[in-house]
Amino acid sequence: MGKKELTSLFSSDPDRYYKVPLFDKVGFNRQACTRCGKFFWSIVNKESCPDHESYGFINDPPTSKRLDYVHAWKEIEAYFRSKNHAIISRYPVVCRWRDDLYFTIASIVNFQRVMGGKVVFELPANPLVVPQMCLRFNDVENVGLSGRHYSSFCMVGQTCNADLPGGYWKDKCVDIDYEMLTKVLGIRPEEITFVEDVWMGAGAFGNSLEYFVRGLELGNAVFTEFEGDENNFHIMKNKIIDMGAGLERLSWITMGTPTSYECSFGTVIEALTNMTGTFNHPEVIGKYFEIMSGKIGEDYVMLNSSSGMRNINTVRSLIAKNMGMSEDVLARIISPYEAIYTVADHTRTLLFAIADGSLPSNVGGGYNLRIILRRSLSLLERMGWNDVKLGTITDLHIDYLRQMYPELEEHRDDIKTILEIESERYVGSRERMSALATYISGARKKLTIDDLIKMYESDGVTPEYLLESGAIQSIPPNFYTKLAELHSEQAARQSQKPILGLEGLPATRLLYYEDETNHEFEATVLKVIDNKFVVLDQTAFYPRGGGQEPDKGKLNSLEVVEVSKHGDVVLHELRNTTNNLNEGNIINGKVDAQRRNSITKHHTSTHILNSAARNNLGPWVWQNSAYKDEDYGRLDITHHSALTKEEIERIEKSANEIITQNLPVSINVYSRGEAEQKYTFRIYQGGAAPSNNIRIVNIEGWDIEACGGTHVRRTGELGLVKITKSERIQDGVVRLEFVAAKSALNYLQGLENSLNTIAQSLGTSKEKVVESILKRNEVTDLSKKKIKAILRKVSPLIAKSVSLEAKITPGGNTKIYSIYDDQLDDEYHISVGEKAVEHDKSLIYIAVFTRGEGISVIVFAGDNASKLIKAGTVAKEISIRLGGSGGGSERFGQGGGSIKYKEKINDALLSVEELVVRHCKE
Ligand SMILES: [Zn+2]
Ligand SMILES: [Zn+2]
Repeated sequence: MGKKELTSLFSSDPDRYYKVPLFDKVGFNRQACTRCGKFFWSIVNKESCPDHESYGFINDPPTSKRLDYVHAWKEIEAYFRSKNHAIISRYPVVCRWRDDLYFTIASIVNFQRVMGGKVVFELPANPLVVPQMCLRFNDVENVGLSGRHYSSFCMVGQTCNADLPGGYWKDKCVDIDYEMLTKVLGIRPEEITFVEDVWMGAGAFGNSLEYFVRGLELGNAVFTEFEGDENNFHIMKNKIIDMGAGLERLSWITMGTPTSYECSFGTVIEALTNMTGTFNHPEVIGKYFEIMSGKIGEDYVMLNSSSGMRNINTVRSLIAKNMGMSEDVLARIISPYEAIYTVADHTRTLLFAIADGSLPSNVGGGYNLRIILRRSLSLLERMGWNDVKLGTITDLHIDYLRQMYPELEEHRDDIKTILEIESERYVGSRERMSALATYISGARKKLTIDDLIKMYESDGVTPEYLLESGAIQSIPPNFYTKLAELHSEQAARQSQKPILGLEGLPATRLLYYEDETNHEFEATVLKVIDNKFVVLDQTAFYPRGGGQEPDKGKLNSLEVVEVSKHGDVVLHELRNTTNNLNEGNIINGKVDAQRRNSITKHHTSTHILNSAARNNLGPWVWQNSAYKDEDYGRLDITHHSALTKEEIERIEKSANEIITQNLPVSINVYSRGEAEQKYTFRIYQGGAAPSNNIRIVNIEGWDIEACGGTHVRRTGELGLVKITKSERIQDGVVRLEFVAAKSALNYLQGLENSLNTIAQSLGTSKEKVVESILKRNEVTDLSKKKIKAILRKVSPLIAKSVSLEAKITPGGNTKIYSIYDDQLDDEYHISVGEKAVEHDKSLIYIAVFTRGEGISVIVFAGDNASKLIKAGTVAKEISIRLGGSGGGSERFGQGGGSIKYKEKINDALLSVEELVVRHCKE
């Protein structure tokens, strides 16, 4: 369905779709724009719609009140409360309740849940208003430069279900909003224009009215009324009003500052100009941003197009001409202000994202955060503002915003921790990126989009950086789309393939939810597919899901090896095909109880460890994924750095304290809205829940998650949980491997056995192993020292014999001595080789030996020999033949290869000797 068709559908009957009683009462007339044909409603007669109008409020606000950001909200909040709207707290900017979005991009997203590809609404009150922070990164190039673009903004969301108690429809909505504009902000009715528009979303659509004042869109009320498409639609059962108004704009229209940033960032802009000593040319700045923030004829359209920077530059050169200045001079004056605005915006976005549990990284939404963070750091650096720290700016934001968002206060320190870690990381990665950029520029290779994606994913090298450093000429326009596709492909691959033959089967009754301890059951066979896959009317077999491995066991005497759930139907896969099972048979099912028991314990441990990690590390810790098997479990958490030994010990200790406290684990099913209200979005550790009813697993006082797995009844049943391994598996994700209960005991017994074996070989007891090893190391150190001393004494003698044993080349001007002996090491060769070429200046000394997984090569060349061939060249030639690389100076060279080439060592030596001979002839 196209927007055009809908527009003509609604425009053909304006009385039905757009007209409200207020328009008649106050005298708003419907008019058509002579330039674009859009319809709009205004008291005064106008030629064109507000799209073509410049911002007429800068330095001349049309309101009777002056409201900065926070005060604008306070007034609006009081107003809507007086109109019987529930004022609800903002939702997190990290959108945990929808798997298709990283960030909350509009206030209505708060209340949308996706089920089976359809959007349903979940309103905690009716009607309501929310000051929702929204994050959008599609216009990030214009932020700080245009005077009005943001990477995060507050959408005042007025939301209402028209068909539920308390609900209303468009007549009352426009009444309420009109009064907000005229009474709360003090705008004269003649200033207000309502523009007709349409809105469409996932299978639903409706008409909308946009509110404009002096060219600035202040709000948009969407009336979602229909389901279907323009040819076939019906009125929805629950019609939704979604009015969104940018708080930044509502404040701006009352303040009339040159940019929207001055009134939206509170004290931050002034503090930053003071900190950086940016005071020059206030009259130029005022004039410049008045034009830049506003619309200059058709340039406005260009400015709003997605290509960004270039168009800003076009407008800038027009302004320079207009002001009678050179572009360079103008740029020098305004760039500090642009930097201040940009950094103020970016830090505010980071503040909300980190407070709500996201981390800058190379993956998912974290990528956008890292981009704006690095953009801020590089701006501060470029401006030479080395004393300005992002943490300080964050403090300023929190000081201002806490009157509106008190929850930010409790994350003050966490946010600064993350910003510091990321700032340090930036310095390191920039060095690496710069080396890579130089390499690419030098290689003159044209990079494909796949190359760029690979560099981005494996090394964190952003295409923006490569562009800035001149290594590439442009960022492929589809880079981010392709990246996103790649990730959704991965997600699709992970999801199950549909199994044929399950259509029309009733939902399987899930006995494992009714009584987790019941492992034996009787059931009726509903269907057998390919003599191998069995569907029952009920089952106690837990199917693979949520990272939990499936149960195994038997159906009669037939072995079940895999269990999976497809929609509501559980499918049992048998090890062997059979003809002994038919539809209608009653069978006896038996779940392998021991296996289930172990998996259940590892599963419950992930809940305990996840909260233990969050409590010990920080609020950014979320479950990234988890895996629960019979022998061990795995929990991947979001965290910025690899864990230290102390951190692992602290997590382990907290987890075991919870086990010792023997806390009850309760499981209750709630409606989704109730669960979210009662327990917050923390419940979505394993991703969004695509269901109206949510199973909440509550480890009393410790951890609450939505979860469909199997759990113990009290934490004490776990006995012990031991983290066996931890590693940083990707940027921003740390993996914990662990064992619990019997597996933990097995693990510890295994360690003890190893310890006993070591003790035995040392001839001591396991209690004295450490002491014994330290003593042994002392003896070894002493022996090493002795050997060194002896080597010093005898190496001149060996050097002489080396010279005698060396082969003289046919020309007679050089001697070659080569040795391959695994008993000798670098210490020996460096000592002897050095002496040998001192003693005999025409000698080339070549040594090769293996060590571990590698082969080492050491080469010395005497003063005369090195004039014919460099030691470094010889080392390189041998190393290449051994699958490695090498190099060095005239006198000394070294290199190495892989142990896989061990058999080739003698051949390599021979062939390089021949090479030396050839060289020394010439
Ligand atoms: Zn128009
Ligand atoms: Zn669970």
